Amino acid sequence: MKRIKRFTLPEKKDIFNKTLGHCHFCGDALIFERRGRNPYPPLSGQWEIDHVVQVSRGGKESIENNLPICTQCNMLRWFRSGNNLREILRLGLVAKDEVIKDSATGKKLVELNSAREIKKQSRRSKPKTNPI
Ligand SMILES: [Zn+2]
Repeated sequence: MKRIKRFTLPEKKDIFNKTLGHCHFCGDALIFERRGRNPYPPLSGQWEIDHVVQVSRGGKESIENNLPICTQCNMLRWFRSGNNLREILRLGLVAKDEVIKDSATGKKLVELNSAREIKKQSRRSKPKTNPI
């Protein structure tokens, strides 16, 4: 497993300031002290450092190749390509319309989304087992 670079505090501030403290994906304001994956679910303003070009695709572990992203965006985006994300966003717009209309499809989507969140949270709250 490739080791991820640990940026120093001044480097983290440089990355944070590249977008004036906003998520490079959604534009929401971030809080510098709330960096990291924990707690879950993420707090408002919680953020992480995101590679512009993935290391696996030749991206560098440098300030230039990293931007701040809110933890929620980063968790949703996880390993998805641009085309895949655009498809998800388009489907999301259709889904949102159905939810707003309170149609049968919209009600089902709300139900499925709630079930997905519950499943995700139960997976995260399981204690980690020692592999020995
Ligand atoms: Zn965001």
